[in-house]
Amino acid sequence: MKSERDGINPAAKPSGTGCVECSHGGWWLHLRRCAECGHIGCCDSSPSQHASKHHAATGHPIITSFEPGEHWFYDYRTQEFFDGPKLHAPQSHPSDQPVPGPLLSLLARESELRCNIHEVGERAGAHLSHHLASVRLHGNLADAELEADLFIQQTADHQRHDLPLAAA
Ligand SMILES: [Zn+2]
Ligand SMILES: [Zn+2]
Repeated sequence: MKSERDGINPAAKPSGTGCVECSHGGWWLHLRRCAECGHIGCCDSSPSQHASKHHAATGHPIITSFEPGEHWFYDYRTQEFFDGPKLHAPQSHPSDQPVPGPLLSLLARESELRCNIHEVGERAGAHLSHHLASVRLHGNLADAELEADLFIQQTADHQRHDLPLAAA
């Protein structure tokens, strides 16, 4: 079947439901699908911009939105938005998948940790906030979670032995 433009292959399946590169510990705002090979990457407002990096690395020229309810295509060569053909299903990530990607689970994790902070005191809170800020900046969720867990554990142990409980 001939497509309307070079760079569109309606038979290519999406690579998954999240950004290929970010799924190992990053987060994204919105997802874009390569219309040629089905690579799912994160948008230019996401920390790592993997959709545009995929275009730069492969020369695949067209992306389309992988967000539920969005139907535009974009051609990097002409910098034009246009209406493209229907591609291989699914047309978007599941609508119950959080946007931004793993960031929402990070925020849930943060509030859970903040509850723990009441028990371990304010010094831990300040330290943890620093970690979470660095996760947001660098998109490295897994490492920061491990680090935060370890820190809270250590602080709790320390406090149990040496420090009075923080005032409620
Ligand atoms: Zn990404
Ligand atoms: Zn591609």
